[in-house]
Amino acid sequence: AKNGGRNQLELYHEKMHHNGSRQMKLATFLRKAIEKNELFLVYHPIVDVQTNKIISVEALVRWKQDQFGLIPPSEFIPIAEESGLIIPISEWIIQKACEDLQTIHLQGYSNLRMSINISALHFSQEYFVKSINDIFQKTNANTNYIDFELTESMIMPNAHETVNKLVKLKKLGVKLLIDDFGTGYSSLSYLNRFPLDILKIDQSFINGLSSYEDDCSIVEAIITMAHRLHLKVVAEGVENKKQLNFLQNEKCDYIQGYYISKPLPIHELLSFFTSWETE
Ligand code: C2E
Ligand code: CA
Ligand code: CA
Ligand code: CA
Repeated sequence: AKNGGRNQLELYHEKMHHNGSRQMKLATFLRKAIEKNELFLVYHPIVDVQTNKIISVEALVRWKQDQFGLIPPSEFIPIAEESGLIIPISEWIIQKACEDLQTIHLQGYSNLRMSINISALHFSQEYFVKSINDIFQKTNANTNYIDFELTESMIMPNAHETVNKLVKLKKLGVKLLIDDFGTGYSSLSYLNRFPLDILKIDQSFINGLSSYEDDCSIVEAIITMAHRLHLKVVAEGVENKKQLNFLQNEKCDYIQGYYISKPLPIHELLSFFTSWETE
């Protein structure tokens, strides 16, 4: 037989064992990733639809491990969240992004914003706001140019506690963005209860723009609703001109996606800026 006579169940167990040991090894290696300098950030440009200028970049973490090579964040962030390792990693990411924002500003792109993904576990800590403030103090960050990307599932539980936390965060000067909008909670009541500034429409809806009429209606509705609530809108995962044209017509504020660029390391980002007008 094709599988050397092994049945489906045996193959399944083999696969689970394989995955289990990969996951366990990654968890072990992850513990040393910061001190071994294996983590780095890449930056994904965000463009103003009306002016076509780059107004912001999103920091995205990468892990290059000796044996396993480049491990995607979709694989190691969940491992880091489970083990608690995400907290030092998240602090490292935020600090590095603040430092790189200084570098970008010093290069003359002084209006550029930095968008930073926040980990669920880090956000849920009581000392979250203090740890953010400590990083801002340490890096002397210009907090008016920083956006935090949160997801619906992070802010929905303990809504009361969350409001306080978000208000405190906003007092530090940052703007707040809801990431992956449309994929989480069905309740929209939080949108005006929380001090939010920006909605980022999940890329699954943007993917569907070229082929699904329903996705067009959903994106249209999200943009209209967001503007009524005085929120700016980012569309993520824009890969072609057709999607851009649709979003332009619908008065979407900002776009992000491979149509503009892939996420870039800081030095490549700076040379990309020289070929594209920035804010
Ligand atoms: P996310 O925050 O929703 O990030 C968007 C993901 O979509 C990124 O993948 C980005 O590279 C990808 N993307 C952007 N535009 C396009 C496009 O046009 N086409 C396609 N196919 N993909 C596009 P990435 O970097 O692999 O990150 C995956 C997820 O891992 C992120 O989703 C976020 O949840 C998490 N993550 C990444 N970096 C960080 C970080 O620094 N901190 C935290 N806490 N989470 C992070
Ligand atoms: Ca994000
Ligand atoms: Ca997203
Ligand atoms: Ca996502």
